[in-house]
Amino acid sequence: MKNFIGSRAIPDLVYHCPENMEQLMDLLGHIQGHFKIVAGCTDFIPAVRGGRWAFDDGLELIDIKKIPELKYVTLDGDRIRIGGATPLSMIIGAPAIKERAPGLAHGLTTMASPQVRNVGTIGGNICMSSPAADAVPSLLVLDAQVIINGNQGEEKSPLDRFFLGPGRNIMAPDQVLTEINFPAPAANESQHFQKVGTRDAVVISIVSAASWLKVDNGKCQGVRIAMGSVAPTPVRLPGAEALLVGNSLTLDAIDACAKHASQEITPITDLRGSADYRRDLAYTLTKRTLTACMNDLM
Ligand SMILES: Cc1cc2nc3c(=O)[nH]c(=O)nc-3n(C[C@H](O)[C@H](O)[C@H](O)COP(=O)(O)OP(=O)(O)OC[C@H]3O[C@@H](n4cnc5c(N)ncnc54)[C@H](O)[C@@H]3O)c2cc1C
Repeated sequence: MKNFIGSRAIPDLVYHCPENMEQLMDLLGHIQGHFKIVAGCTDFIPAVRGGRWAFDDGLELIDIKKIPELKYVTLDGDRIRIGGATPLSMIIGAPAIKERAPGLAHGLTTMASPQVRNVGTIGGNICMSSPAADAVPSLLVLDAQVIINGNQGEEKSPLDRFFLGPGRNIMAPDQVLTEINFPAPAANESQHFQKVGTRDAVVISIVSAASWLKVDNGKCQGVRIAMGSVAPTPVRLPGAEALLVGNSLTLDAIDACAKHASQEITPITDLRGSADYRRDLAYTLTKRTLTACMNDLM
């Protein structure tokens, strides 16, 4: 238990809990010292207790979980919009996700445990910017965009340009990820996510993969493949995608695409698995997720 929770003390904090966006922006405009924005704290607390993040006493914590303007899931015209501090369980249960993006809902249910999903947020998973962030491959294949706000105004970025390296992204410390949105998938589109860890649940992925297909008359009109834990950031695999798009969808074509995917990634060997094992998993998970999409559509 000591190893799981970690042994280091949380520093003496100055705690702020703004109740709306106006209070948050006002705080961000005036705060002087060293501060950190948090939501569910399911990454923050284990990282501090485990010694992966160290802060001096006096750190000002800005907890955004009570801000109602950051918690929503809506179908807005042809886009699905999710507030940055929306808990994972709220996304899984949202009618718009269940009906239009069930692959995303399924992907999120593979994360953590119900208790963690009730407080852990989608924005926290993205902003942690771990190569193993499990929500990210599904969002990458949905062609998601993020909206970032701060006192300098609003910025939009495609999710695939958001990550800069392990734990690094394009946001400044005084910016908040306020929304993730993506085109609501149509009836001729399907998306699947799978991950492999050292056990079935509550585990960091050794490799995770998501695929999205759009099919018309047996031909692949669009394909996106994304993976986690195979590079310094979650990545799209454009080389593998190019092998399928415009072609007839067959098991052989999927197999060739999956083989390409396993060579396109740049995995490392670490405690969770070797680079070779990750390439094998990349092949298997690409094949499985693409085949599942094909079976939904044909
Ligand atoms: C037992 C356990 C199991 C887990 N299992 C998984 C798993 O299977 N897969 C997985 O991917 N993760 C897993 N996690 C990690 C974690 O639960 C998720 O990454 C979660 O989505 C983090 O969200 P949070 O709101 O708790 O983030 P926090 O801990 O509050 O914040 C994480 C980081 O994001 C920043 N941040 C948060 N929200 C914003 C925002 N809106 N704008 C700007 N910055 C922000 C914070 O500054 C911090 O750097 C697990 C954690 C635990 C404790």
